[in-house]
Amino acid sequence: MSTLELPRIVENSPLARIARWKLRQPNVAMVLGHTIHLSGVTRTDFLRDASWVAHELCHIRQVQEHGLLSFLWKYLVESARVGYYANRFEVEAREAGRRDAPQVAVWLGLTPPQGPGRGGSERASATDARPDVVV
Ligand SMILES: [Zn+2]
Repeated sequence: MSTLELPRIVENSPLARIARWKLRQPNVAMVLGHTIHLSGVTRTDFLRDASWVAHELCHIRQVQEHGLLSFLWKYLVESARVGYYANRFEVEAREAGRRDAPQVAVWLGLTPPQGPGRGGSERASATDARPDVVV
């Protein structure tokens, strides 16, 4: 996380809106190569959710590691085999979301979680349950 750099973020992305309709989700963040596309969530609100940002940053790293086409293929094969939740790229991104959230929060200039009962764990599980889309 030493070379942390905010990727390009597209708000009101038509592609993310299509994914949102397909997934029937109120909000979607979608990694398209090196860009995060949002629908149903503003850039400001997205950047307030450190674990969500850390999750999507992990997908961007995965794309960089594998190369876009290779990553896409492996991601689709994983999804077909084991589904969204057990997909190893999602497992890794969820772990990164938990692990990197405090660092990302500092980096984004967010105040740390307010302690027990103020959304820390509830928020983490909400993020776990929120499907996203990787392309
Ligand atoms: Zn994901």
